[in-house]
Amino acid sequence: MAGSGTPERTVRFVDEFRDAELGRVLAGELLAAADPGRHYKLMEVCGGHTHAIYKYGIDDLLPDNVELVHGPGCPVCVIPMGRVDDGIAIAHEPDVILTCFGDMLRVPGSHGTLLDAKAQGADVRMVYSPLDALRIAREQPERQVVFFAIGFETTAPSTALTLKRARAEGIENFSVVCNHVTIVPPLRALLESPDLRLDGFIGPGHVSTVVGARPFQFIPQQYGKPVVISGFEPLDVLQSALMLLRQLGDGRCEVENQYARVVPYDGNAAALRVMGEVFALRPHFEWRGLGFISQSGLRLSDTYADFDAERRFATPGVRVADPKACQCGEVLKGVIKPWECKVFGTACTPERPIGTCMVSSEGACAAYYNFGRFARRHERAAV
Ligand code: SF4
Repeated sequence: MAGSGTPERTVRFVDEFRDAELGRVLAGELLAAADPGRHYKLMEVCGGHTHAIYKYGIDDLLPDNVELVHGPGCPVCVIPMGRVDDGIAIAHEPDVILTCFGDMLRVPGSHGTLLDAKAQGADVRMVYSPLDALRIAREQPERQVVFFAIGFETTAPSTALTLKRARAEGIENFSVVCNHVTIVPPLRALLESPDLRLDGFIGPGHVSTVVGARPFQFIPQQYGKPVVISGFEPLDVLQSALMLLRQLGDGRCEVENQYARVVPYDGNAAALRVMGEVFALRPHFEWRGLGFISQSGLRLSDTYADFDAERRFATPGVRVADPKACQCGEVLKGVIKPWECKVFGTACTPERPIGTCMVSSEGACAAYYNFGRFARRHERAAV
């Protein structure tokens, strides 16, 4: 930890990754590494980084000419309204128990949320893991238990392993609505977007524990932008920003791995193998605010098609436009900051979200709102 000009120090425990003194050292090194004649725009891909940035005030430690923009890596934020409607339709089927992660309960569809469906009598239950859903199926063989699966490559292996276990145990009343997505296609779409000019990426640490650092090589090779795969503690994010500025200063353009304590370059072979067995790529998948992106979503493979809830139940399968007031797409693309959305903190709050970015703690709007950044910014402006 810490860069040139400071003594190297081994950091192992979580409180050391939040060490204020080391944070100040890194802030000084960032200031020294930033070219004052240049404006830097760095995207943190992952919602976990957005959360850490707002929670620990990391943006306040960066030089004024280093701007962080938030990327599409929040799994709840990217679920489009039509998929929520599909989940609600299945939840209203007779004898169905629909299970999902807690954040998913409050994601708005076109006529409410899964929580609203529960209030209307549907049996919707929060689970912490797909294995919890499988346990319910085991305990209640007379009911159909459906798991509404979301997430990037980080959570997809646990869904895959659950399906393998369901098959091994011969559990037939269990199925999955597969909304798993992959990280590389939306990054490519962002890089192709004329809306956005970025200087580099703070790469997604959680996803990379599964896919490794290798899949991000296309970013420097084809788009000439550096990437630093980053951990989630405040010093991780500061050090990753410093590594990006140093690459830019040196004229280098590489994938570097700041999170090497967790992320192997080639990823987790066992997790990738089980995903390859259980899932197949969809030709395209709709992302909230980003539209359809080719080969960006996963479905159940033909071998596991009998566990596919979309085959077992009729769903509307209709594309639903986001509410007019919602600017989640622009937030997810890093085109606007959360507080620049017209309904931020007024019509859209964590208690009554209009858009998905206000639902999950990893959503940029919720993170910004919950850690009081909006209020502090205005207080500062008023002084
Ligand atoms: S404030 Fe609400 S509607 Fe606006 S971008 Fe954020 S989540 Fe979406």
